[in-house]
Amino acid sequence: TSCLERIKDVDGSIHSFIRVTEEEALKQADAADKELATGKSAPLCGIPFSLKDLLCTQGMTTTCGSKILENFIPPYDATVVEKLKNQGAVIVGKVAMDEFAMGSTSENCAFTVPENPWKNGYVAGGSSGGSASSVAAMECLGSLGSDTGGSIRQPASLCGVVGMKPTYGRVSRYGLVAFASSLDQIGPLTRDVRDSAMVMNAIAGYDRRDSTSVKQDLPDFTASLTEGMKGVRVGIPREYFGDGLDPEVAKVVEGGIQALKSCGAEIVDVSLPHTEYCVAVYYLISSAEASSNLARYDGVVYGYRDQDADSLSDMYRETRSSGFGDEVKRRILIGTYALSSGYYDAYYKKASQVRTLILSDFQKAYKSCDLLISPVTPTPAWKRGAHANDPLAMYLSDILTISANLAGIPGISVPGGFSSDGLPIGIQLQGPHFREDTLFRAAYNVE
Ligand code: GLN
Repeated sequence: TSCLERIKDVDGSIHSFIRVTEEEALKQADAADKELATGKSAPLCGIPFSLKDLLCTQGMTTTCGSKILENFIPPYDATVVEKLKNQGAVIVGKVAMDEFAMGSTSENCAFTVPENPWKNGYVAGGSSGGSASSVAAMECLGSLGSDTGGSIRQPASLCGVVGMKPTYGRVSRYGLVAFASSLDQIGPLTRDVRDSAMVMNAIAGYDRRDSTSVKQDLPDFTASLTEGMKGVRVGIPREYFGDGLDPEVAKVVEGGIQALKSCGAEIVDVSLPHTEYCVAVYYLISSAEASSNLARYDGVVYGYRDQDADSLSDMYRETRSSGFGDEVKRRILIGTYALSSGYYDAYYKKASQVRTLILSDFQKAYKSCDLLISPVTPTPAWKRGAHANDPLAMYLSDILTISANLAGIPGISVPGGFSSDGLPIGIQLQGPHFREDTLFRAAYNVE
């Protein structure tokens, strides 16, 4: 109830929630109380969570921040939601996001746009902006978001919370509405690193309902937190400290490097030479996959349908024209173009080839280090509306997070400090496939 009270008190100004599910939450909380009284409850029993509104929730609207799914009620829970519920966690509601997870500020949400809880008038980041703002504003203790090109780590950084994007395949995507299937991963946004590791313990693991989920041993992610950094080699990728990096951000990351050093880590310089191609490769591949994934919203099976059309093709056209927002339409256009015959080899195929080079950059770097430290975003949060008419500037701000998705590696954003005007600045750690444990260990020494 204290989170529900808090939501009532502050959400009128923070706007994290698309829907607060009070009645359900109170029922779940009652059940959790009974479970807790037995003394044998699971670690997340009774813990209030918010969910990004692209995670399917049985009997509860799942809008993806889009008018086209405004009234869509899934008949089943996503695997991660089922896992949280099995532990007795309490779902307090569904939170704001950029439409279909396309964006970096959550301003592309059709229903509500979250504020940065640290400073009014500033963006919370995106696309999991409502997840980050709800945790930062203490409207819940944890949230699940999704990260296709930085959408967990970037809002976590801008809102001063911890955001973990697991290795591709580590967490089941069953019940996550797809944006770009080869890049999407679900992960936790939490107040601190230990909470993040505990949520990962709950949600990770093989799921036969997701054909890309991986059968891999699951460590206890909390086990290595207090091990210190002796013998761990931390790489500084020089391309991540180039032009356009705000000096205040650089200073905070430098502080993180010093912290790891003083805990016993060895610091090495590394290079990821294909970093400059990441933005182009990401926007081609993610838009191509999105154009195909979003073909299903045609007014027939799900959500919104235009009522005035008098032929089938008119109905498709009108439904999609008024159901999707501008950014989603832009991505569908880019994706359809990149996949069309005559252009496929020049764009999609080329991008896929460069994607392999980006992965091999990481594989080479991990021969001389165990993890990488860098900024998450080139700047702290910016004013709402600042990039509204400049999609390219917005795409370029993703440069430091998208390569992890292209390579499928895990990454975490940990709060590192503040800018001179009081906005949080995060530090990013990235590791080899399935080494979330190393990231948690280092993150624990940075926070
Ligand atoms: N900002 C990126 C985009 O707009 C990342 C989105 C995401 O990770 N879902 O595509």
